[in-house]
Amino acid sequence: MSGIKFVFLCLLLCAIIVGGLLKIDKLFGEHELNYSAAVDDIITYSLERRIGYKWLRELCDIGPRLSGSAQSMEAIKWAEKKFIEMGCDTVWLQPVMVPKWVRGTLEHAEIVKSKDHTNRKLSIASLGRSIGTDGKILRASVIEVKDFKSFASYTREDVEGKIVFFNEPFDKSIPGTFRAYGKAVQQRAKGAIEASKLGAVAAIVRSVTSKPDNVPHVGTMNSFPDSVKQIPGVAIGVEDAEFLSNLLVVEPDIEIGLQLDCSNLGEVLSYNVIAEVKGSELPDELIVVGGHFDSWDKGDGAHDDGAPCIQTMETLHQMIELGLKPKRTIRCVLFINEENGIRGALEYAKYAEENNEIHVAAIESDRGAFIPQGFNLEDSDEVLEEMQRWLPLLNKAKIDWIRKGGSGVDVSKIKNVTAKIGFVPDDQRYFDVHHSDNDVFESVNAREMQLGTAAITILTYLISQEGL
Ligand SMILES: [Zn+2]
Repeated sequence: MSGIKFVFLCLLLCAIIVGGLLKIDKLFGEHELNYSAAVDDIITYSLERRIGYKWLRELCDIGPRLSGSAQSMEAIKWAEKKFIEMGCDTVWLQPVMVPKWVRGTLEHAEIVKSKDHTNRKLSIASLGRSIGTDGKILRASVIEVKDFKSFASYTREDVEGKIVFFNEPFDKSIPGTFRAYGKAVQQRAKGAIEASKLGAVAAIVRSVTSKPDNVPHVGTMNSFPDSVKQIPGVAIGVEDAEFLSNLLVVEPDIEIGLQLDCSNLGEVLSYNVIAEVKGSELPDELIVVGGHFDSWDKGDGAHDDGAPCIQTMETLHQMIELGLKPKRTIRCVLFINEENGIRGALEYAKYAEENNEIHVAAIESDRGAFIPQGFNLEDSDEVLEEMQRWLPLLNKAKIDWIRKGGSGVDVSKIKNVTAKIGFVPDDQRYFDVHHSDNDVFESVNAREMQLGTAAITILTYLISQEGL
């Protein structure tokens, strides 16, 4: 290569590198601070220090956090203390009345009439809102429903006096697990109510999970309308659902005995935990980050929604520790009672509306703490385009896309928000653990969780500086 050619190539290379750097900085105007360096600091701090992952260990040690439980109150106090210790400008507990449902200590199901399988126990767990069996053994024959939609054609004659066994599987052929969940979860939400309308005495529902083990995955049933008699509803592990289904083919007359002492105990006082880092230039403009702080009473509630809540707590912590000084106020809201009432979200939305608060954005993390993929946005094309300009920076924390989609159950209740955003990590393993004893601290990967923290913090920071 000649000397001139070499110099020319070097110049070309420099131009490409400088051009690339300018491309990132130019997105935000000349007078802005160097976002690239701030983003690198956020990622390095998240991955190296693992602060949130350490907090998750503490939170999981408290135990699961069903609304109204003693552990949920202990967790609320723990979060309040963390926010105070990290030096937030404001920390407060927002009172919320929540329903209190308790599982009780008696939870038993077995086959009580069969040629070869009498006394065989079944792996079950009561579903949220279920009533118990009044200390008795509820004994009945069983009718299987393989596809919830088909139940619409069943008659009272088919169902009366029986236990309805809803056995629609989680559709493994659908790549997106949230879609598969949305389809199969109908039987859990509505099965017992529809069965009761036709005179059934209880409902057994196949666990809505992608994992073929025998752990029951719980969740709430919809509220029974006043006109429909309440009956018990339980989830059954996938292996036992398969066993029962096969047994019913050869022995359609088997009977099952159910004994449960779960109950609904009215309402009790609980709290949303709220903390802020005040904006340096536009303190009245808010960016909310958060998730739901309650969980089911199974496992540790680690992925749902412990680790995601902690990701948003750490966003505030990093603003302070890294000296990022957001222009707009960043407010973390840990909503209570998403799982069986959404009372926390409704209370917060009411408060925000009554106080005419300006929400520039509300970002929810409630899809587990897996490898970051993208952000969903429920809003206008202009906002979407604005945010997509930031992808070169968000790419550094493994965010590949921002697109239209649902934000989250809690932030979607807030009115007058410019951008309602949902953090979307990889979803392939979420429903292996969701609402079950599988959802423990050990199921969370530190790197994946901390990359999610970085992604949420970067987006929050960019919105705080640039607005929307
Ligand atoms: Zn959740």
